[in-house]
Amino acid sequence: MDQPQSNDPATPQTPTLLSLDANALRERFVALGAKPFHAKIAREAVLQRGALEYAQITSLPAALRDTLARELPILSSRETDRRQSRDATTKLLLAFPRGAGRDATVEVVHIPPKDRESRKGATLCVSTQVGCPVACPFCASGRNGLVRNLEAHEILEQFVRGRAIGELGRSVVMGIGEPLLNYANLSSALDVVHDEMGIGARKITVSTVGFPERLRRIAPTKPRFQLAISLHTPFQEQRDVLVPAMKGVSIEDVLEAGDDWFEHTGREVTYEYVLLSGENDSVEHAERLALRVAGRRCSVNLIPFNPVDESGYRRPTQLSVDRFHAILAERGVVATVRWSRGMEGDAACGQLRVRALPQRAS
Ligand code: SAH
Repeated sequence: MDQPQSNDPATPQTPTLLSLDANALRERFVALGAKPFHAKIAREAVLQRGALEYAQITSLPAALRDTLARELPILSSRETDRRQSRDATTKLLLAFPRGAGRDATVEVVHIPPKDRESRKGATLCVSTQVGCPVACPFCASGRNGLVRNLEAHEILEQFVRGRAIGELGRSVVMGIGEPLLNYANLSSALDVVHDEMGIGARKITVSTVGFPERLRRIAPTKPRFQLAISLHTPFQEQRDVLVPAMKGVSIEDVLEAGDDWFEHTGREVTYEYVLLSGENDSVEHAERLALRVAGRRCSVNLIPFNPVDESGYRRPTQLSVDRFHAILAERGVVATVRWSRGMEGDAACGQLRVRALPQRAS
């Protein structure tokens, strides 16, 4: 029978280097005849330098590298596609195995700094779920509902794949999925990203539709990331449509959970607002939004809508984006306009979606 290679996916349930914690990894290494410190070398090479194959870890003995390549895959996913847009944004499609018929791909986006000379490193956009149960009508990710949560090591693996493309300076948990609905797995992955990959708490942003009770439960644990809440409108009836999973949850309750977050963590919340032409970009919307957020310790990110097939929504003009921005500024609200990158590779906010897994060659 063929042995899996390290660049080949693990079969479902096969432990991988990334699915074992540091202790379990040491035990596994020793069982394979390695020294305990070899486990540390391997884990650091993978997490800190993005080694995807044991062959790249030349500080391990050659015979051990061969054994490991046969016995303990580093990753469980397969890279099924890679696209680069003109602005150097790379989108990876990763297929995670898990039982017959449940294989699925998620997308990871690696966004290098605009200024090529910059030494800050790239931003990596990662996914937390296969599909998404929230079903915002302007977003491609929730079109087919939720398939399943990603495991912690599957979330971590996206960081390693991203690190293999280039140095990471920041991470945004803004790929596919609602992070608070898979929070335990996300938070154990982010602990490793923070502690072992060295991405600081202010460089990790988690974006959520903002379930207030969940946020209130999490805030006292002082999570080591920045929080972004997708608000999208100051009007209750409209939010019930734009963020269907939040129907019946009052906007004021969401904002109060944001205030509570700041009180516990000392970090201001960012409210995200996708600007949809003719829907939520009016003067009235801007004024009402300002009334809701002015005086709170927060800022607003305005994201002009990125076209998604058949959504029926339109991208606003520069003029209307500027007008909206100016109204907020006049009322003392700190706002930034985020024109997305990666548009021609369908890698911008809201354009990521689950794809069917291509048939595996047998
Ligand atoms: N699921 C998370 C992260 C989504 S991506 C969340 O809902 O917060 C980050 C932001 O992009 C969210 O505010 C999301 O609503 C927004 N977004 C979704 N689709 C978009 C689109 N087509 N154009 C622009 N922004 C979009």
